[in-house]
Amino acid sequence: MGEKKKKTIKTIKIDADKCNGCRACEVICSAFHTAPKFSGNNPARSRIQVIRHPLKDIYVPVYAGEYSASECMGRDKYTIDGKEYEECAFCRASCPSRDLFKEPDSGLPLKCDMCESDPTLEKPLCVQWCLNDALIYEEREEEVEEEVDREELETGLESLANKYGLDKMMETVARMSVSKKS
Ligand code: SF4
Ligand code: SF4
Repeated sequence: MGEKKKKTIKTIKIDADKCNGCRACEVICSAFHTAPKFSGNNPARSRIQVIRHPLKDIYVPVYAGEYSASECMGRDKYTIDGKEYEECAFCRASCPSRDLFKEPDSGLPLKCDMCESDPTLEKPLCVQWCLNDALIYEEREEEVEEEVDREELETGLESLANKYGLDKMMETVARMSVSKKS
C-alpha cells in the first residue's frame, strides 16, 4: 500500500438556472489570460463559454476541459424540463468538430486552469465576477493514495530481476502474498 497524502479538490458548482447570459465570466477569464494580464479581452479566448439561446431561455456555462484530437463516435442530445439542448452542449472538450475552446489566432486548445497564479486567488475570477451566483466555488481536502512513479517502479523491478533472476523474484512475491493472506 502506498502513502496517503492530502489533495485539494477544487470544484465550481454551476447553477444554470441562475445564469442570465451576461458573459461577464467570459470577459474576465479572457482578460486574465491575456499577456500581459488584463491588457485586453476577447471572449473567444475565454476558458468558460456560455451556450446562449435567449429565445429558448437556455444559458449553460461550460468550462474548457481536455483536448481531444478526434471527434467522439456519436452525439448526445438532452431535453431537460422541456428544453432541448443542442448536440455537444454540455461537453467540455476542445475537439475538431467545433470552434469552442480554441485560441482564435493559433487554434491551440484552451483549458480552464482555475486561474492558477502566484499568489493564489481566493476564488477563480469567473466566480467572483458572476453577480448572479450561478458559479459557486468549493474546496475540499481528500486523502489519496500517493501515486507510484511507474517508470521508477519498472526500472527498480528490472534491476531486481537482473540481480536475482526472474524466477527467484516471482517466488518471493508469491511467498509474500501467501503470508499476507494468512
Ligand atoms: S457571469 Fe454568471 S450569469 Fe453571467 S454569463 Fe457567466 S455564469 Fe452566466
Ligand atoms: S476558473 Fe479562471 S481559468 Fe477557469 S474559466 Fe474561470 S476565470 Fe477562466
